[in-house]
Order: sequence, then structure tokens, then C-alpha cells
Amino acid sequence: MTETDLLARHRAAMPNWLALYYDEPIEIVSGRGRHVTDGDGRTYLDFFAGILTNAIGYDIPEISDAVRRQVDTGVLHTSTMYLIRNQVELAEKIAALSGLDNPKVFFTNSGTEANETALMLATQHRRSNQVLALRNSYHGRAFGTVAITGNRGWSASSLSPVNVSYVQGGYRYRSPFRDFSDADYIAACVDDLREVIETTTSGDVACMIAEPIQGVGGFATPPDGLFGAFAEVLAEYGIPLISDEVQTGWGRTGEHFWGIQAHGVTPAAMTFAKGLGNGLAIGGVVAEAELMDCLGANSLSTFGGNPVATGGAKAVLDYLLEHDLQANAAKVGGMLLDGLRAHAERCALIGDVRGKGLMIGVELVAPGTDRPAPASAARVMELAKQRGLLVGKGGLHGNVLRVAPPMTLTEEEAAQGLAVLAESISLAEQEFS
Ligand code: PLP
Repeated sequence: MTETDLLARHRAAMPNWLALYYDEPIEIVSGRGRHVTDGDGRTYLDFFAGILTNAIGYDIPEISDAVRRQVDTGVLHTSTMYLIRNQVELAEKIAALSGLDNPKVFFTNSGTEANETALMLATQHRRSNQVLALRNSYHGRAFGTVAITGNRGWSASSLSPVNVSYVQGGYRYRSPFRDFSDADYIAACVDDLREVIETTTSGDVACMIAEPIQGVGGFATPPDGLFGAFAEVLAEYGIPLISDEVQTGWGRTGEHFWGIQAHGVTPAAMTFAKGLGNGLAIGGVVAEAELMDCLGANSLSTFGGNPVATGGAKAVLDYLLEHDLQANAAKVGGMLLDGLRAHAERCALIGDVRGKGLMIGVELVAPGTDRPAPASAARVMELAKQRGLLVGKGGLHGNVLRVAPPMTLTEEEAAQGLAVLAESISLAEQEFS
């Protein structure tokens, strides 16, 4: 069956979210290392890792073996009512890596459920449904997480179970403080946070939730120290900070294992998903016991932490640590960031290049202005695809190219992908000028 047939059937049977990325979406049928192959036999270098889903890459024997070991028992899963060895071992590993005080881990099947769980913990703990979030945030697609998502483009519902107030701090490029120094930017965001707490809440706020680097929001990267400064204000009001590490966890930012660690603060809880499973469906929350205990004994997830997902995730985590992929993310990410910044010097389509490690955003604008250029971003994706490179896009206006390859990317692959991406951006610039 051709991909065109499959696309028609997809559109007939499901909502058409595929249009977000490609006019002509591909079917990925196999993968090796950092490359995937589509249904027509074309191979691509993957610079988006699913959507940061494939932390390590494709066809990793250690992970396949771990999954196979569970499959070979004849039990894929029963329920989380029983003891599950893989689950306990993974929880111990994540708790030890978390740096949190007296941590406990709860597993889910996705980032959305992880954030829903975190919201439930915090709102129960404080007996308040007031939540602080960042403008331009994305936290998931269920009722509570959509409500705290500060990007209406992703909101499937205008009704809200949460009373949310949004603060500055996420998306600097389109904030009133864009041209401030880092220190002045942080000070302005802290003033905004204080004013939002004082003027839009009763002060009785369940939590603040934030992505250390906004993922869907276009890899918007705040200056180091911002969340540490926020935490001082939050502490005055007894408001716990929850770090959404769904994209920034597992060393992807290069500098630290968790994105929030760049800010000199330990949050009360962190949520995670995506890269941990390298394609397996797993997410979760790691939280201080006091917060986690709000969950109560009757709260379990049928599939969250099932032995296939946790067995695979354990192998992913071991692989990430044994191969020091955080250091590799810093090294090849640095090459990409430098290369894209150099390209921006000669390319008026690029308004901003930002990010850390293997999370790099390239914001495209109408040349000579800072007006968003979403059509150019879509065109670059298509041009890159035609040249054998998959990249992502995102941002409030859909005009930010997102570069986030598997963390095993080699220097040679980084150089190859960079050349194709730079060429595609230049071609799009010519087409649109
Ligand atoms: N939080 C962040 C920061 C995300 O980027 C995402 C997904 O993109 C989610 C939560 C939701 O995760 P999922 O799609 O696994 O439900």
C-alpha cells in the first residue's frame, strides 16, 4: 500500500494532526542508529528523534533485549496491583538521580498523565486549584494539562478545571523584556511573578509548573538562574515548584541531567516521559514524599509502569549513563548551535537561534523584521525532507525549526545534518524573498 493511500485512510479514520508537520507525511517503517527509513525505502537522518522520543536512536540491542526478556515470560502485563520488579528497580534509579529530598516515583504512560498527576498532587496538598504557569508553555492534552498550557493553539478546550495565571519567563524573544540583559530580564520576570501572585491569585496557590526549556513553545530558553530567582519568591508564599522535564530530562540539555538544575534550585517535583522509553510509552512523576503521599492508596494506573515499558526504560537509562550521552549532547549540540548561529549571520530569514545541548530552536522571521514566518518553517521542513533530513517545528506561531536528534548523534552526522539544514533554510529564504 502506498503512503498516499495510508494518508487518506488516516484522514478518514482520525483527526488530521499530521498536517501540523508535513503536507506529505511519511510512514517510518524501520530505523538504525540515527536514521529511519520510510515505506518507499527512502532513508533520513533524524534530527527530531520522533519528538524527542528516541533519546538514544533506533535498533539498540540492549533495549530490544530488555523488552524481549519480558515478552519471553509470556506476560506482557497484568496490572499494577501486583509487584513488578522492573518498576521497583526503575523507580529506585530515578529517585536516586532526582536529587529531590526523600523522593517517590509514580509511573504513567505519557507526559500528559505525568503532569495531570502532578497537578492532582499539588492541588490536593494545598486544597487549592490555583496554579501558576508560564506563557507559551505546553504541558499536555488532557483537561487539566490543556488548561495550564499557555499556548491557545494547542488548547482543545476553553473550559478549565484549574484557575491558572500565566507569568513571563518562558519566551524571551517575543516578550517586552527581549533586549534586557540576563540579570535585568530575570529581575523583570521576578517582578511580573510577584505582581501576578499578588493581583490575580488569593496567594493560596497550589504550585507553579514550568518547562526549563519550552519544547512545543519553540525551544525557548530562559537565562540560567531564572527559576532559582522564581523559587525565592515562591518560597515566600509556600508555593512548590514543579519542573516539567518531559523534554529537558535525561541529560538532553548537555549541561545537567535535569533542565532545572541550570537554575540552582531543587523543585518539589519533576515530571518526565518521552526519552526515557526511547519509543516505549512511559512517563511519571518524581516528588517529595510529602507531596506524593497526597495521591492516596487508591490511586493506581492500570498500565503506568508496566513491566515491558519499565524493563525497556531501565535499559535506556543504563545506556544513557554508561555512554555518558549527556556529554555527547553537549559536544555535538555545541557544534550545531555554533553552526546555526554562524548561518544566522548570513541569513535574514533567521531571527533567533537558541537552546542548549540537543534542544536547538531556529526562529524564522520575515527578513528585515521580527514577524513570524511559519510558511518558511514548513517549507524548510519539506526541503530538508527531500534532502534526507527530518527536523521539527513548533513555537507559538509555528515558525521555529526544532533540532533535537537522538543523543547518540555523531560529529559526522551533526556536520551532515547541519549542512542540509543550512542549505534548506537558504533555499527557503530565496523562495520567499
Ligand atoms: N510536557 C511537555 C514539556 C511536552 O513537551 C509534552 C509533549 O510534547 C507533554 C508534556 C505531553 O506529553 P505526552 O505527549 O507524552 O502526553
